[in-house]
Amino acid sequence: MSQEIIDIVQNYLTPNIPITLVSQGAEAVVFTTHVHPYLPQDSNKTGETKYIIKYRPHKKYRHPVIDQQLTKKRTLGESRLLAKLYQIDGLKVPKLIACDQYNGCIWLEFLGSQLPDNNGFSNLKHFLWWNKADPYNNVVKESLLKVGQQIGILHWNDYVHGDLTSSNIVMVQDKLGVNVWNPHLIDFGLGGVSNMVEDKGVDLYVLERAIISTHSAFSDQYVEWIMQGFSQVYEQHGATGEKKLKELLKRFHEV
Ligand code: AMP
Repeated sequence: MSQEIIDIVQNYLTPNIPITLVSQGAEAVVFTTHVHPYLPQDSNKTGETKYIIKYRPHKKYRHPVIDQQLTKKRTLGESRLLAKLYQIDGLKVPKLIACDQYNGCIWLEFLGSQLPDNNGFSNLKHFLWWNKADPYNNVVKESLLKVGQQIGILHWNDYVHGDLTSSNIVMVQDKLGVNVWNPHLIDFGLGGVSNMVEDKGVDLYVLERAIISTHSAFSDQYVEWIMQGFSQVYEQHGATGEKKLKELLKRFHEV
């Protein structure tokens, strides 16, 4: 990780907002902080609440003007999409807190859970590893049904994710149940509006590949549960839902 990028972000945020690096991808660098972008500092007295800062670094190989336009477009695009998705009934995505499209930063609600081996962060991939000694237990089944339901709600509303891997599904522990998990979808940098069965089929295919590649021994059952949850959402919408589901499943099997 280049210290240069951390310095750029820290410099822009000023030393009053301490940041901790979480991950660096090709498109974005992600940090956590305990400081809210516009509420007074003492609104987080216990220091327990964390926020995510997602920063899109400048690309030196791009012309600076094009680079700035692209950064602005993608930062705004992801923010707008998240804000719309957050309003969809039943869909779980992080809440957008702030967007600074000129500096390429968005602030999000931090989604965290305590898994013993993973610094408090748990995506679907870790969650399935964590359960590998008892891979078909009821908690796994219920959680994967919910994963499918989340994708079903997203697709039913004509949105697609664009990079639906098991790392982009965060498992959040329910406040009322120690072993009840609520999957949330993150990273909508490649997401958008689409009513095309092809785009939705690709989302499902990408997730299936991700599960096969990391949990191959159990993947058939896992994918079946996800598809079961997915189908439930469409089936709730009567004949129209059933028809759309049929087209989608056909497409999914073709991909
Ligand atoms: P992204 O570039 O959006 O895929 O984020 C990269 C990584 O940052 C993810 O794989 C997570 O580890 C972490 N992350 C991103 N958004 C959140 C969030 N809202 N809550 C918790 N962790 C997140």
